[in-house]
Amino acid sequence: MIPFDYARPATVGAAVASINKDATAQLIAGGTNLVDLMKRGVMSPQKLIDVTRLPLKEIKEANGIIRIGALALNSEVAENETIRKALPLLSQALNAGASAQIRNMATVGGNAMQRTRCPYFYDTVMPCNKRQPGTGCSALKGYNRMHAIFGASDKCIAVNPSDMCIALAALEATVIVAGAKGERRIPILDFHRLPGDNPAKDNNLQKGEMITAIEVPVNKAFAKNSLYQKIRDRASYAFALVSVAAALDIKGKTIQQARLAMGGVAHKPWRLTTAETFLKGKEATVANFQQAAALALKDAKSYGHNDFKLTLAPNTIVHTLKTLTGI
Ligand code: SF4
Repeated sequence: MIPFDYARPATVGAAVASINKDATAQLIAGGTNLVDLMKRGVMSPQKLIDVTRLPLKEIKEANGIIRIGALALNSEVAENETIRKALPLLSQALNAGASAQIRNMATVGGNAMQRTRCPYFYDTVMPCNKRQPGTGCSALKGYNRMHAIFGASDKCIAVNPSDMCIALAALEATVIVAGAKGERRIPILDFHRLPGDNPAKDNNLQKGEMITAIEVPVNKAFAKNSLYQKIRDRASYAFALVSVAAALDIKGKTIQQARLAMGGVAHKPWRLTTAETFLKGKEATVANFQQAAALALKDAKSYGHNDFKLTLAPNTIVHTLKTLTGI
């Protein structure tokens, strides 16, 4: 572990000023990802800004929006009564993530900021464009079982590891950030980015900005019919091979509106808009679910070890929709 300076500001303004002063400063809250990265030499911030004293833990509902403070713990959000009733999809996704011990430490803001678990990113002797731009991508021709099938580039095929953000993508959440120029609102689907030519950058935060809250609109129809399904190598404490967040507004047998997002398949939460459009106005049948899944996978591309995802992903979409509708 390298030596670093440490600051613990008491206000958001002081935290923002502190990150802006030092190019390598990093915010830390639960530390469930950053400390690992520092121990392995993947990240070497010269200053840590501990934000755990900031008043950003509140979960509150007003005017059909639930606002979750960036420092609310993953376990607190998952077990919160308002969240369980109004946003069960979010609660399920949070409980599918990591282990109980980690959920008790990890914050909502940190969850959205966590970095890929590509093994080459953590192995500092291997080339990795995300860790060290310009060195190459070891996963492209290496062991890429966990890697992307959508939106990858020849520079990086890593996936975003968050379960929470997949549910937030289906629920059309907004990330609230504070920076030197004031507050900014970023739709969750625009928060993370695809790797393109610059995989070192995971998201669209600007230098010196920090997440202060996440807002999620309440939709009673989706609250009645939503499900998060995560397929992984073991039942707990494993990242998704593929996950699906689904929410349906159904009247009788007809789907009025569908929201579908996938995890474990792209550098950002992957929304299945073509499948959603197809399902709108259709009957909830296995044949329609299969057709929606086939449409969703139209542009998928695998890299060898992850070829199985081309079958696992549509099967998981169909299985999730069947389970959700009980057909
Ligand atoms: Fe690095 Fe991305 Fe390639 Fe993994 S997939 S080795 S994170 S560049």
